[in-house]
Amino acid sequence: MVKPISKIASAIAPSATLAISALAKQMKADGIDVVSFGAGEPDFDTPETIKEAGIAAIRANKTRYTPAAGIMELRRAICNRMKEDLGLEYEPSQVVVASGAKHSVYLAIMTCCDPGDEVVVAAPYWLSYAEMIRMAGAIPVEVRAEASAHFKITAEQLEAAITDKTKMFMLNSPSNPTGMVYAKEELEALAAVCEKHGIYVLADDIYYKLVYDGIEYTSIASVSPAMKEQCIVVNGVSKTYAMTGWRVGYTLSNPTVAKAMSSYASHSTGAPATMAQWAALEALEGPQDSVEEMRKEFEKRRDHLVERMNKVPGVSCIKPQGAFYVMMDMSSFVGKTMYGKVIENDSDFAQLLLEKNLVATVPCASFAAPNYLRWSYATSMEQIDKGIDRLEEFIANA
Ligand code: PMP
Repeated sequence: MVKPISKIASAIAPSATLAISALAKQMKADGIDVVSFGAGEPDFDTPETIKEAGIAAIRANKTRYTPAAGIMELRRAICNRMKEDLGLEYEPSQVVVASGAKHSVYLAIMTCCDPGDEVVVAAPYWLSYAEMIRMAGAIPVEVRAEASAHFKITAEQLEAAITDKTKMFMLNSPSNPTGMVYAKEELEALAAVCEKHGIYVLADDIYYKLVYDGIEYTSIASVSPAMKEQCIVVNGVSKTYAMTGWRVGYTLSNPTVAKAMSSYASHSTGAPATMAQWAALEALEGPQDSVEEMRKEFEKRRDHLVERMNKVPGVSCIKPQGAFYVMMDMSSFVGKTMYGKVIENDSDFAQLLLEKNLVATVPCASFAAPNYLRWSYATSMEQIDKGIDRLEEFIANA
């Protein structure tokens, strides 16, 4: 008999959101008219100029290995964009390009954390964070922000969670799943705590271009020189340029961390696909109008979805300021019977809503936000209306 798989791999939790998304996919494949709010990616196509750059790279035989940290042209372009957009100054040697921001987060954790280290995570959080921390043998420590605090943690909460084992603090603003954006003063207060304890800060800025209501985005890395030294800024082209399938993410960090991350990458994946790196270069250096066009469209959809959702009896949401997600509070239904079934949690509600009225959403318990459903508005206005109409019917007829 073959021996068991590793302890680390067997401890990885299967995604709780997978069951419902698998069901939604199956229903769609069976020709059922499911309206889906599950998307974690822009519904727009990659802009033409970027696609052309990828094709041109293939034609020019840019098809061979590149340095593990990515081509120099791209690393330089990342430095320029980060300086222009966020006021962050880095050298190309501090940039590590990876196979998507997801891989960047993983590399950062593996580089900074030893087994037994604690990593404080602002919750609700993107569900992969906790799993990646565990994959490093480290321990996720949740600091929960409530809806009453607009899903943002305070410096006092962070301070209370830090022990002598804490190695890193992970912050994602705008947040997946809450859509909330930390203001500069809030970041300064959190940064002061991190500076005092000398811990790493993983700043997942992947949604930085998708902010609304005219707010100006601040990266926590920009609040002080000490913070910049402690930060590993994670970013990428997936969300900003509708390039999720190209798999290009990157980090900016101090030279010691950057060098170690690059070595780690060199022995695991190597750099992302060469042609994808050339396409990402065009994304960062080429015309930026499509970014603003997509942002404006997302803002319109957010306004519409939030307005309609808050008119539906029994559910509510806070208006998020960024990303493309809305968290719907469905706690008023917990303990109630709908369609002959007692609703015990967000998953029960999501499952019934899909089965009865063909609306797919993401239950948020595994994002550390029980009794919420995440609605992604990376879908058309027409679909948003259809989905909310169906939610109304679902609740009215229960
Ligand atoms: N961070 C957050 C918060 C995300 O939501 C995602 C995508 N779902 C990523 C990182 C990863 O993005 P990618 O790997 O596509 O660059």
